[in-house]
Amino acid sequence: MARRPIIAGNWKMNNTIAEGVKLVKELAPLVADVEAVDVVACPTATALAAVADACKGTKIHVGAQNVHWEPKGAFTGEISTGMLKEIGVEYVVLGHSERRDYFGETDEGVNKRARAAYAAGITPIICCCESLEIREAGTYIDHVVKQIKAALDGFSADEVAKLVIAYEPIWAIGTGKTATFEQAEEVCKAIREAVAEVFGQSAADAIRIQYGGSVKPATIKDLMAQPNVDGALVGGASLKAADFSAIVKF
Ligand code: PEP
Repeated sequence: MARRPIIAGNWKMNNTIAEGVKLVKELAPLVADVEAVDVVACPTATALAAVADACKGTKIHVGAQNVHWEPKGAFTGEISTGMLKEIGVEYVVLGHSERRDYFGETDEGVNKRARAAYAAGITPIICCCESLEIREAGTYIDHVVKQIKAALDGFSADEVAKLVIAYEPIWAIGTGKTATFEQAEEVCKAIREAVAEVFGQSAADAIRIQYGGSVKPATIKDLMAQPNVDGALVGGASLKAADFSAIVKF
C-alpha cells in the first residue's frame, strides 16, 4: 500500500517568533511545488500562532511539541488541544525522548496525550526510542514495541490507521550518527508488525512510521527507499530552510 510520506521538523527549544516566521517564509517557496509529501514544522509554543499564521496558504502544516489531555484547569505550564486547534495546529509531537528523559514523560502520559489530541482532530506523531545501552543489550525491538503498544492503548484500528509514529534511537539524535538504513528499517518493520498483531493488517498498512535521528539531505533518499520508512522527524536540519527543503524533496 502506498503511504503518503510525512516529513516533520522538530525545532525543539529553538527560534524566537521572529526567527520562526522568517524560517517558514524562507521555506514556503522552496517547498511550494511539493505535492506528494506532508510537510510539517513544529515550533515552540510561543511561536506557534505566528508561525501558523505565516504558513496559511503554503504547503507547510504546523505541529506542536506537546499537549495536555485535559481541556482546561490547574495544569501549570501545559497547553490544551483546544488552544492548539484555535491557532490552526494540525499535528503534535508526543513522547519525544527528551520529554521522556528530562521531563518524566511516561508511556501512560503519552497515551493520554495522544488520545486527547486525536479526539480533538490533531494528529499525534508518537515518538518511541531506545538508548545506546538498550541497543547494545539487544532488547531494542521489545523496548520500542512496548512503548508503541502502550501509546496506542484504547485506540480503534480505524484510528490507528491515521496516526504517525516516529522511531528515534536516542544514540542517533543530535549526534550526527544516523542509524543505518538497515537499522531504521528493522525497527520500523517491527513496529508495523506489532501494529498488525494488535490492530490488524489494514491499520498496519496505513499507519505512517517516520525515522528520526540526525537525518540530513545526504541520508534521506536511502532512508525513504526502505519499505517501512514513511518519512522523517528532523531536528537540527529542520532549522535551515535549504536543508529541510532538500530533505522534503528527497
Ligand atoms: C529529534 O530530536 O527529533 C531529532 C531527530 O533530532 P536530530 O535530527 O537533530 O537528530
